[in-house]
Amino acid sequence: MATNPLGWIKQKLFGQISCQRCSELMQLMTDGQASAAEEKEFNKHIYDCLPCYETYQLDKSIKEMLRTKLEKKQVPDDLIESIRKKIRDTA
Ligand SMILES: [Zn+2]
Repeated sequence: MATNPLGWIKQKLFGQISCQRCSELMQLMTDGQASAAEEKEFNKHIYDCLPCYETYQLDKSIKEMLRTKLEKKQVPDDLIESIRKKIRDTA
């Protein structure tokens, strides 16, 4: 992921985490392994950072879909369609 200069400045000024740190936390969040402090840190970042917020939503949808697929061996068509659309919009 490219360095976000604005994010870097914000981090220096306000002690906010970087997008790189955010993507590390995102893995923990989607795996349900983030601590309360990490969760707070992460939520604070995506509240201000739209690209990270969108990445998180997409990541969550995909993990959700995989989970649904594993549990029910079947994924609703509208869910697949909405994820396809999100991937298209992001690309
Ligand atoms: Zn970010």
